[in-house]
Amino acid sequence: MSTTSKWQVSDAAHHLHPFTDHGALAAKGTRVITRAEGIYLYDSDGNKILDGMSGLWCVNLGYGRQELIEAAHKQMQELPYYNSFFQCTTPPAIELAELLSDIAPSHINHVFFTSSGSEANDTVIRLARYYWACQGKPEKKTIISRWNGYHGSTIGGASLGGMKPMHGQGDLPIPGICHINQPYWFGEGYTEDSTAFGVRVAQELEQKILELGEDKVAAFIAEPIQGAGGVIIPPDSYWPEINRICKKYDILVVSDEVICGFGRTGQWFGSDYYGVKADLMPIAKGLSSGYMPIGGVLVSDRVSQALKQSGEDFNHGYTYSGHPTAAAVAVATLKVMHSEDLVTRVRDELTPYYAQAFGSLADHPLVGEVRTTGLLGAIELMQDKASHSFFAEKGAAGNCCRDFSIANGLVMRGVGSTMITCPPLVITKSEIDLLVERARKTLDDTAAQLL
Ligand SMILES: *Cc1c(COP(=O)(O)O)cnc(C)c1O
Repeated sequence: MSTTSKWQVSDAAHHLHPFTDHGALAAKGTRVITRAEGIYLYDSDGNKILDGMSGLWCVNLGYGRQELIEAAHKQMQELPYYNSFFQCTTPPAIELAELLSDIAPSHINHVFFTSSGSEANDTVIRLARYYWACQGKPEKKTIISRWNGYHGSTIGGASLGGMKPMHGQGDLPIPGICHINQPYWFGEGYTEDSTAFGVRVAQELEQKILELGEDKVAAFIAEPIQGAGGVIIPPDSYWPEINRICKKYDILVVSDEVICGFGRTGQWFGSDYYGVKADLMPIAKGLSSGYMPIGGVLVSDRVSQALKQSGEDFNHGYTYSGHPTAAAVAVATLKVMHSEDLVTRVRDELTPYYAQAFGSLADHPLVGEVRTTGLLGAIELMQDKASHSFFAEKGAAGNCCRDFSIANGLVMRGVGSTMITCPPLVITKSEIDLLVERARKTLDDTAAQLL
């Protein structure tokens, strides 16, 4: 038996994977990724694959970065772990909190650390409700979110998210969370003017607040651009209207920056890109370029002041909040981003290049729309683009395209029949050309199969 086969058998026997049909996976066998360098993955059969998804939206600096590896090594020798409970802290946690406050908008100067985006969003629920309780408004506790948003997979995160297949397994959402429609113009508003659509969908927030009563609504949470939902880029009219509504009814704005944060849009944060003033910003993924599990919530002065003046404990936290080794790797990540001026490079060089190169796929007969912002990209596969007809089985079409993509040496992910990309921020222009060349070949192969 080959090494790959042995691994596959053992994996199928003992390993339960996230978001996986285990029967189907056992029949097919897992792909074993054994090493990676730059923007390329290598599997146990020796295939070299361009990682068009940055791992899972996180390996922004690419693989094999010595600065990050050395930061972890050094910190593990010095102090691998200590907690930040009981009036203690560690130098990497201090340094990271300060670096984050420097890059955050001026009204945000604090961070609460977690180990993941899901934990960050559970922290958001705790913080938003506690904030209003501190203002003498304990009833102001409902959180409004969006269908097809993604905010993680803990009970809290999955409830905030609007993924119906997740809600269906486990009696979610928990009480006190409700959902409005997403600003998905291509999929749900195509016959309408996109500007008018953006405003109309944003106004569902106002209707929901009026329905619930503004004294019952704590916060609105959204990703600046939806990632897992299919790289859904809202019309430009959407966020200004959301801003207006949240201000009018005094609702906390939570910008889930787990994907959009750390340069993905060509700004430090997605909320900077859209000019949104957020009260809370959950972060994770790119914070450590995925090298260590670390996340957090960036907390505005308004909310941090309430915590500081409450006169009691905020009864929340994790064993690994501010984990020194994870924090040291995050510090190293931010230092590399600063020294390479990466956010500016994404904004000025890569964003226009990606928009043009990846956007050129729009002429393909299988493609109804290509959209990009920064280094996020999506391709809408269509049965018939002239009549705006989607495939009857969207998931099957997306999976077919994804399988061809990997066979062509490119990781793209399918969300329904939307193919999505999120390449490392260190990708070069010639590597973008290669990504697009492989994507076009993939579309040809998929069209030959499906059309
Ligand atoms: C991935 C993701 C999360 C969850 O992060 P985990 O680290 O997987 O818990 C939350 N919000 C958004 C927007 C994400 O993309």
